[in-house]
Amino acid sequence: MGCMRTVGSMLAALLLSGPAVAQRSGIDVKSYWFFVTLPDSGREIHVAAVVTFEHQVPGDSVLALNLVGMTIDSVKVLVPTRGGLSREFTYDGRVLRIPLRPQPATIIAVVGYHGTPQDGLIIGSNARGRRVAFADNWPERGRFWLPTVDRPSDKAMTRFSIRAPAVWRVVANGKLTPGEGGREWDESHPIPTYTMVIGANEFTVSTHRPVITGRDTIPIEVWTYPEDSAFADSVPFRRATEIVEVMQRLIGPFPYEKLAHVQSSTKFGGMENSSAIFYAEKPYVERRMGEGVVRHETSHQWFGDAVTERDWPDIWLSEGFATYFDGVIGAALDGDTVLVNSMRANAESYFKSDVTDRPIVDSGYAADPIKLLNANSYPKGAWVLHMLRGTIGDSAFFRGLRSYYRTYRDSTATSEDFQRVIEKEARANLGWFFHQWLYQPGYPQLDVTWQYDAGARKVLLGITQRQKPEWGLFRLPQLTLEFRGANGATVRRDVAVTGDSRETTTRVDLPFAPTEVRVDPDGKLLLRVTIGRR
Ligand SMILES: [Zn+2]
Repeated sequence: MGCMRTVGSMLAALLLSGPAVAQRSGIDVKSYWFFVTLPDSGREIHVAAVVTFEHQVPGDSVLALNLVGMTIDSVKVLVPTRGGLSREFTYDGRVLRIPLRPQPATIIAVVGYHGTPQDGLIIGSNARGRRVAFADNWPERGRFWLPTVDRPSDKAMTRFSIRAPAVWRVVANGKLTPGEGGREWDESHPIPTYTMVIGANEFTVSTHRPVITGRDTIPIEVWTYPEDSAFADSVPFRRATEIVEVMQRLIGPFPYEKLAHVQSSTKFGGMENSSAIFYAEKPYVERRMGEGVVRHETSHQWFGDAVTERDWPDIWLSEGFATYFDGVIGAALDGDTVLVNSMRANAESYFKSDVTDRPIVDSGYAADPIKLLNANSYPKGAWVLHMLRGTIGDSAFFRGLRSYYRTYRDSTATSEDFQRVIEKEARANLGWFFHQWLYQPGYPQLDVTWQYDAGARKVLLGITQRQKPEWGLFRLPQLTLEFRGANGATVRRDVAVTGDSRETTTRVDLPFAPTEVRVDPDGKLLLRVTIGRR
């Protein structure tokens, strides 16, 4: 998501929907094919869902699909290899349970249902007064209109075949197929339920220069309300192609068949739906939408969509990465100051947040992912990457990210998976780094005092970690200090702050008496400092 707006009504809907269905093992959905009929008026939808999954044994003996508040018309279960057929199911208004036979198999369940979605698929008026339909599934709202295993851990391919009023153009994940008269979209990569979308509206569609990936040509499209089309093409999406090209150069091939940037009525500032990113309509209408949200959401196609956090407590693997790559892409296009400024803003927004007493990887909020849209997952997550880069160097950092993307593309990953890949590429044990920044709360607050010994031509330094004891101590192996002399000369020295004790004292050679001392002058670390003479 592009911003941390929390939405009361969404929270209420989540509370009503109850916890996600736990499917630890035994069932793996491979694909969903949704035949959706959108109404000419009103909000009732009719859907046939074809769910193809693998059933392993031992494992669950029931296929449990999240589906909230719909009326089930029919359920058929086919086991192609055995020609079996069953029609048994139970439905309590929240979970559709289909019993399975105790043999491993590939199984197809066909579920027919209808109803008016309470959430997840929003049918209503847009900011230009036109009737529209937009899906908005994050985090677990897909279940209000699609029968799914609604967990980030079970990704699946999708196909949407959509019947809709004639005035609408329809967009969804993946590639347009010849089916349904331009209203069938097929995503051949597994994607998380929370990025499965359709959007239907009287769109104006413009095409930007495509991106070339090996033998593939990736169309880049901008889908907007007709009144906002010229603005969208010339301001926020002016460099839509270049943004993808930067990510391809730094990380790897774009993961999907096309990229559509879609103006929508999403509740989020931006929502990174796989290959069909949805953006809030209002900033277009008010002509205040900038490129930052486009950089953020585009980078999510690699991080969050192609490589998905296995469960919500690791959401920084999605939001921290997208927050960082907003700045990294900006720097690649417009110079390093973009990243410097964005990291400074990220630090400020984290320092003033109310989550500094909690760690980034926060299992306390696992059942309530909305609360994870916080300053730990976004700006502090971005800082973890920035400091990792400073610790292991650009070359190992980007090699590690490319390897991580290659390894976990179209799959899911945990923070431990990421650490393992990075340690391998950096050829270093980085347990201390990941521990203090991901699993410890807070940040270092340093009191630095100094005194010049003119006889020895040395500066004596005392560094005290003043942060709350419950945040723990931080190890900073390379803390840079800059000394300025009376004649304007500057010299830099690196010192190591140990994480073993609160106090570090050290002395460094310095050919002149400093008049000014600066700590971490390039802003490489997430910390706060006070400096004084001893
Ligand atoms: Zn995001």
